[in-house]
Amino acid sequence: MTDTAAPTADRAHKAAKRYIYAFGGGRGEGDATMRDVLGGKGAGLAEMTNAGLPVPPGFTITTEACNDYFAAGEKLPEGLWDDVLEAVRKVEQDTGKGYGNAHNPLLVSVRSGARFSMPGMMDTVLNLGLNEETLNGLIALTGNERFGWDAYRRFIQMFGRIVMGVEAHRFDEAWEQAKAQRGADDDTDLDAAALREVAGEFRQIVRQDTGRDFPSDPIEQLDLAIKAVFASWFGKRARDYRDNQKIAHDLGTAVNVMTMVFGNMGDDSGTGVAFTRDPNTGQKVLFGEYLTNAQGEDVVAGIRTPLHISDMRDRMPEIYSQFEEIAGRLERHYRDMQDLEFTIERGKLYMLQTRSGKRTAAAAVRIAADMVKDGIITEQEALARIEPAHVDQLLRDQFDPRAKETAARITAGLNASPGAAVGKAVFNADRAFEMANQGEKVILVRIETSPDDFHGMAAAQGVLTARGGATSHAAVVARQIGKPCVAGCASLVIDYGSRSAKVNGLGFSEGEWISLDGTTGEVYVGALPTVEVRFEDQAELQKILEWADRARRLQVWTNADKPEEAAMARRYGAQGIGLCRTEHMFREGERLDIVRDAILVAFQATRAKERREAGEALSAEDQDVVRRFDDALGKLEALQETDFEGIFEAMDGLPVVIRLIDPPLHEFLPNHGDLLVEVTQMEAAGTSTDDPKFAQARELLRAVEALREQNPMLGLRGCRLGLMIPDFVKLQTRAILNAATKRRKAGGDPHAEIMIPLVGHVNELKATRDLLEAEARKVEEAAGVEVDYKFGTMIEVPRGALTADEIAEHAEFFSFGTNDLTQMAFGFSRDDAEGGFLLNYVERGILPDNPFQTLDVEGVGQLVRTAVEKGRAARPNLKLGICGEHGGDPASIAFFDEVGLDYVSCSPFRVPVARLAAAQAALTGAAERDK
Ligand code: PEP
Ligand code: MG
Repeated sequence: MTDTAAPTADRAHKAAKRYIYAFGGGRGEGDATMRDVLGGKGAGLAEMTNAGLPVPPGFTITTEACNDYFAAGEKLPEGLWDDVLEAVRKVEQDTGKGYGNAHNPLLVSVRSGARFSMPGMMDTVLNLGLNEETLNGLIALTGNERFGWDAYRRFIQMFGRIVMGVEAHRFDEAWEQAKAQRGADDDTDLDAAALREVAGEFRQIVRQDTGRDFPSDPIEQLDLAIKAVFASWFGKRARDYRDNQKIAHDLGTAVNVMTMVFGNMGDDSGTGVAFTRDPNTGQKVLFGEYLTNAQGEDVVAGIRTPLHISDMRDRMPEIYSQFEEIAGRLERHYRDMQDLEFTIERGKLYMLQTRSGKRTAAAAVRIAADMVKDGIITEQEALARIEPAHVDQLLRDQFDPRAKETAARITAGLNASPGAAVGKAVFNADRAFEMANQGEKVILVRIETSPDDFHGMAAAQGVLTARGGATSHAAVVARQIGKPCVAGCASLVIDYGSRSAKVNGLGFSEGEWISLDGTTGEVYVGALPTVEVRFEDQAELQKILEWADRARRLQVWTNADKPEEAAMARRYGAQGIGLCRTEHMFREGERLDIVRDAILVAFQATRAKERREAGEALSAEDQDVVRRFDDALGKLEALQETDFEGIFEAMDGLPVVIRLIDPPLHEFLPNHGDLLVEVTQMEAAGTSTDDPKFAQARELLRAVEALREQNPMLGLRGCRLGLMIPDFVKLQTRAILNAATKRRKAGGDPHAEIMIPLVGHVNELKATRDLLEAEARKVEEAAGVEVDYKFGTMIEVPRGALTADEIAEHAEFFSFGTNDLTQMAFGFSRDDAEGGFLLNYVERGILPDNPFQTLDVEGVGQLVRTAVEKGRAARPNLKLGICGEHGGDPASIAFFDEVGLDYVSCSPFRVPVARLAAAQAALTGAAERDK
C-alpha cells in the first residue's frame, strides 16, 4: 500500500460546489486526509480503493452537502441531484451493470458516515434498486430465487422502517407469524415462495401504515434514502450520542452510495467484522466474527450467533489468508489498530470499511506500548492515542476475588467490556435512565440492545444481554463509553413482560441487585464488594506514564490530607502535595470534641487575651475561658504536629503545601435546626436548667446562633478567620514548623509551604504574614535552629486575582483555588448550583460544561491568566499551581499548561490521568507552536 494517495481528480459538477467524490475502477477521488468532508467511512473507502484493495465501486456525498441541505430547509442544493445521477452513471460503468436495469441490475447501499465514528447511531439502507422487475433480473442472473426474494423482503423491511417510518415491530411480528405458520425455526427455513408472500405482506403493511405504495422507482428510492440518511444526523439517538461523546452537532454526515455485494448468496458467501488486534486485551491477533450466507445487519444485530474469525481459516483458507494480508497492510498503512467490515460474495472478498478500532483502556495501553516497541509509532504518538479516560478506567475497581468465591453466580456470557458493575436490574432503557437520574445504581438487562437504548446504557453501571457477540451493538458501545458489559448470555431467559430473567430456575426481577464482571463475563445475583486495582501491577501503563513524564512540562502534585493518601499519591507519581486541608484533620474521632470546645469560647477568649495584653486584669470567668481555650488548642496542636510529621515523612524530599484553617466555624458544630429542636423539646418537657445535658445543648445552640451567617461561604472563613482568632494561625504555624524540625532532626527532608486561603486584599495577607512570622521566630528560638519554609497564598477571590501584583509582593507562591474562584466569578453557590439549575444549564447548552468540573476558560480562565501575568511581573520567580478540582480535569489541564503554571494538584486517584493529560497538553502546545 502506498502512503501517498492518488491526487484528487477534479470532477465536473452542476451544483455550485463539488459535493461528490467517487471511488471505483481502482481509483478514489478522495483520500484519508479528507475525513472532514467525506466522513471516516468515505475517506477510508477512497483510500482503500487507491491502494488497490477490493472495494465495491460507489461515491460519497460530502458532509457539506448535508449541512447545506439543512441550511436550505431540508432541500437538496441546486444541481446536486444531477451530480448524483452522473455519479450513478460512473458506478454503472465501473460495474458494467445498470441502476434500474431489469436484466442486469445494479443494486446499491446508502450508508451514513460522519467525521467521527458513531456506531449504529445513524441510518443505512441496503438493496436499493430492487423492484419486481429488477428482482426478476437478479434471480435470472444468480439462478437463486430464494436469495432474490430474501433480498427484496429485507429491502422493503429496512426501507419501510428507516425511510418511510413504519414501526419495526410491524414487520417483525409479520415475520415471526410467517415462520410460525410454516413451522420454521430459523429464518433460513423459509423458501422462495414463502418469502415472496412475506414481501407482499410487507408492502401491504407499508401501504396501511403510510397511506402510500412502496416506491418501485429506483431513482425515487435513492432520493428518499439519501434524505433519510441526512435526517438521521439529527435523530434522537445520534444527538444523545454526540452529547455524550462531546461531538459537535454541526459537523453533518456524509452519505456513501455503494454497489451492493451479497454475503447471503450461499455457503461460499458471508459477511463479518474484524479487528486487527483484540480490542479487549490489545493482543496482536485477528479478532472478529463472521456469518456465512448472511448480510451485514445479521452480525451487528446479534440475530444469529456468529462464528469466530479463526474458523474462516479452516472453512475458506484462501479468503482467510487474503483477508489476513489486507488486515496487516491496512494496520501498517494507518499505523493503528483497524476495525474492518468485509463481505464475501461467491468466493470473492470485498472490503466495505476500515477505521481505527474502538478499544478498551487495557487494549489502548497495550497496543500503544507494543506499537512503540515494534517501531510503528513514536512514544509521543502513543501518548496521543491514549485517552485520559482510559487511564481512569484502568484504575477502576474490580470485584473482591474472595467474595466471588462464595457469591451466587448464576450464569456467564461473553466478557464484552471489562470492569466490575453493581446495580439494580432494569429491563428497559428509559426506566434505567430515569432511575439513574434519581441516584439509583442500575444495570441495564436486555435480550439485545439497539441504538435506541443508548441513553439507558450511558446511565447504567453496566449492561447485560442475552444475545449478540463481541461485536454486537451492546459490546461495541459499552466498550467505548467504558461501561462493563457481559453480552450473549444465551442461557438467560429474559421476560420483558414480567421484568425478570431466569437461568435454570434461578433468577432476578427488576429492582434486585446484580453484579457483572465484564472482565470474565460472569453474572452474580446480589451486590458484590469491589476492591481497588493495583496500579503497581500495571507495567504497560507505568511505561506509558514514564513517557508522559518525559514529555510534560507541568508537574503533577496531589491534594492529600493524611499520610496514607500522600503515600498512595506518591506511588501514583505525585511530585508534591499542592493542598493539605488542615481542617479535615479536625473532624476525626475525639478531635471534633476538642475543636468544638475551642470554638465555643474562641471569641470570648480571644478578646480577653487582647485585654490582658493591653494590661487589663481578667475576671475569673475570663480567666477560666482563656484556660479552656488554651487547653483545647494545646491538645489540637499536639495532634496536628503528629499528623504533619506523618505527611512530611510520606512526602520526604518533596514540597508539601499546608493550608491554614479555611471553613466557617459553624461547619464543626451541630446543625442549627437539630439543636433548636433538641433544646425546645427539653424546654417543653420542663427539663431543669441544671441538667448538664440541657446546659450543654443550650450553650451549643447559643454558639451556633452567634456564628450563623446568611452566606457562610462569603463570610467568616479563610484568612478572615485567622485574623479574628490569631491563635488558630499561631497554633498551626507552630505545629507545622515543629513537625518539620523534628523530621529534619530525624534525618528527613521536609519541605513545608504554608498557604493562606481566601485572600482578596493584600493587607489581609500582610497582616497574616506578620502574625505567622513572629510565631516562626519563636519556634526557631525555642528549637535553636533555623526553620525553612515557603509562604504563599491561594488565589480564589476575584479581587485577589485582579490585584495579584500587589499580593505577589508578599507571597512566594500562588495556588489557584478554582472551586471558590468559579463560585465567585459566576456567583454560583458551589454547594447548591449543581443540584439546582446548573446541570440543566449544561443540558440545554446554556453552558458548554459544568464549570465546577471543567474550567470556564473564557471567564474564570481570564482571572487566572491575569493573576499569572501580574504575579510574575511583580515576582519573576513566583511559583504557580492550581489545587481546585480542575487540577485533575484533562481539558482544564491543557489550559493550565498553556497559561504557564508550574504544577497542577489533584486527588491521588487522578494523578496518573493528570500525568497523561499534562503530556498531551505539552505535545499539542508544541505542535501548535511549530505550525
Ligand atoms: C478551591 O477553592 O479551589 C480550593 C481548593 O479550596 P476549597 O475547595 O477547600 O475551598
Ligand atoms: Mg477554596
